[in-house]
Formats: sequence, structure tokens, C-alpha cells
Amino acid sequence: MLGVRSRLDTGSMGGYMPYTIMFIDGQAVAFEQDARDVALFCLKLRGWESLTKRRHLDLTCGRLDGRCVMSIWFQYFLSLGLGALAGSFLNVVIWRGPAMWGLVESEGSASRGNLLAPRSYCPSCRTPIQTSHNVPLISYLFLRGRCASCAQPINPRYLIVEALGAAAGLAAIYFYGAGLAAVLAGVYLLVLIALAAIDLETGYLPDMLTLPLIAIGLAANVGGLFVPFREAVIGAVAGYLSLWAVSAGYKALRGREGLGLGDAKLLAALGAWTGWMALPVIVLVAAVTTLIVVGAMSMRSQEIDAETAIPFGPALAFSGAIVFLWQ
Ligand SMILES: [Zn+2]
Repeated sequence: MLGVRSRLDTGSMGGYMPYTIMFIDGQAVAFEQDARDVALFCLKLRGWESLTKRRHLDLTCGRLDGRCVMSIWFQYFLSLGLGALAGSFLNVVIWRGPAMWGLVESEGSASRGNLLAPRSYCPSCRTPIQTSHNVPLISYLFLRGRCASCAQPINPRYLIVEALGAAAGLAAIYFYGAGLAAVLAGVYLLVLIALAAIDLETGYLPDMLTLPLIAIGLAANVGGLFVPFREAVIGAVAGYLSLWAVSAGYKALRGREGLGLGDAKLLAALGAWTGWMALPVIVLVAAVTTLIVVGAMSMRSQEIDAETAIPFGPALAFSGAIVFLWQ
């Protein structure tokens, strides 16, 4: 899947600057000194300027001695592992967060604990989970989705969130290359995963996650890391106001809550990260996603009418992640 795909070009420019460009899993990589300038020049010569606009274009590698290829493999491997570990922590946030923040009052919610203590336990038999049974992804598969003590099935959400976390880590490195942008992109994607899962389980999009996501997005874009700061600020304001207006309008017409303000705060966060120009596409993709899910649900003969509550948060989070990575 990964690895060196093809060697595109070898030669020298101006008779003194030898270079090689390799295409490594979507990344054009140039080797040799001052390789970046040379590579950009060559890409332009070949009419591949569009490649230079891809953020993940990493043209800063050193010599062609194999180290560069290794380091890219290592980066992928590391980001996958860190993402899965982060996903494992997200599972704690998803399970304990809503109880901690007073959003749910289900049985035993007070004893779910906080984000650091107690250590993870089985929700069925309350046996603490051994460290060797707490390895992201691998333990779930090894235990075949059952608790090692009581053999009760473990919620597949644990596996799904860990896999999504790993995918988020990989996507951050793939699209942004090793650096601050990748770390922040990873944080953005991980918080979206947590928000989607919490909305699916509880129907809430906690302020404890949406508000910091707005703040971090704006802070990241002060220096224009993802989009110019002005576009980010307008994005946050426009994102909030547009869904607030929909929510207020629905309430005035129907006399009941149709869309929560959590959705408005989430769209504000998406606007802060992607800029206001991305908002129409984000809302469109989210709406189409919701329609497809509702269609699939009604085909499986589930009762759906105007009273059925369908959370919009997961679709918004999905759409916000896709548009962020591809814009
Ligand atoms: Zn158990």
C-alpha cells in the first residue's frame, strides 16, 4: 500500500545541482541539497503545479540514501499508533465525559469516574482492565470483543473509536506532513470523533468540547496555519449564527426544539478551522449524509416520522473532517 511508487525524474539543473524526485505514496519527494526549490521548479516544468498546492507535499528530505523513505514509513507507523492510543483515551471521554459534565444521569453515572481515575474497568462486571488487555485495537480483536473476566460483549464503539483515532493520526500526517499543522489537525479530527460518538449516545454536543475546539481553531489560524485569520473568525461567527437562525426559526414555527444550539457551536468550530467559505459545502455534505442515513434506516423498515430525533452532530463532524482535509 505504502512505499516508493515510481521514480519520476533524475538529472541535473544548470549543470551543478543534481536531483532526484520520487513519488512516495502521494508525496513528491526531492533528494539532494536545495532539493525543495529544484523540485518545485521541476513540478512546474512538467505542468504539475497543482501538486505543489497539496499541503502534504514534503520536499524537504535529505539525501537519497534510504533514510528518507524509512522516516516516512516510520511517521506513518507512529501516527497510526499514537492515533489509536488517543482513540483509546477518547473512549474514556465518551463514556465518562457526559456524566462528569452533568449531561446524563444514567444509573451509576456518578461512579463512572473522571478522565484520569479510576483506571479503565468493564462496565458489566466492574473488573479493572489489565494493562495487557488495554492495548488499542489489538486487545479487542484478541479478546474477540468480550470482557476477559465476565465474557460479556464489549461495546463495538471501543473498537470503532480506536480505529477512527488511528485513521485520524494517519490522515493528519498524510495531509500535513510531520509538524505543528499535523498535530493540530490530529486534535481537530479526534475531538470531532468524540463529539460524534457522544451525540449518537446522548444527543448532546458538550460545550466542554465544542467551545475549546472553536478557541483552538481560531488560535491555530492567528498566523493563518490552515486559513487566513479573518476567514476563520467570520467562519466561527457565520457558522454559529446560521444554525442558530435555523433553530430559532424552527422553534417559532413548530413550537419545539428541532436543532440544538450544540449543532450551532459545532458549526462555529468547523468555521473556525476551515474558514467561512467552506461552510456551505460542509452543511451540504452533512445534509446529504443525513438523508442517506435516514433513507437506509427507513429501508430497514424503521419507523421514521417528523418526531424522530436524528442527531445532526455526527454528520456535521464527518463533513467537517472531510472538507478540512480535502480543501
Ligand atoms: Zn466484565
